[in-house]
Amino acid sequence: MTDEKRCPSCRQWTQWERLPEDRCAHCDAPLMVGLPRTQTAETERNEANRPIWLEAKATDGKVMRIVRNVALVAHIVYAGIMALIMMLFAALVH
Ligand SMILES: [Zn+2]
Repeated sequence: MTDEKRCPSCRQWTQWERLPEDRCAHCDAPLMVGLPRTQTAETERNEANRPIWLEAKATDGKVMRIVRNVALVAHIVYAGIMALIMMLFAALVH
């Protein structure tokens, strides 16, 4: 599976096959070594899984974090209600 990874050396996005020997297409730096500890898999996973508008930033204050959590719950509830409406609609049509 091919993925993209930000090069630790030149900060460009490059093809990454999740292999230790993969190198940056721009500067030929190895992608798996020299990674700063602050930019490990955990932050990348969060960026990949969360909607962009829910992405917590280091600059967010406490209030902003609460707002984001409320928005996330509202999003889940909304999705649940929509699924329920779709099921009721399907039941009524048939
Ligand atoms: Zn590079």
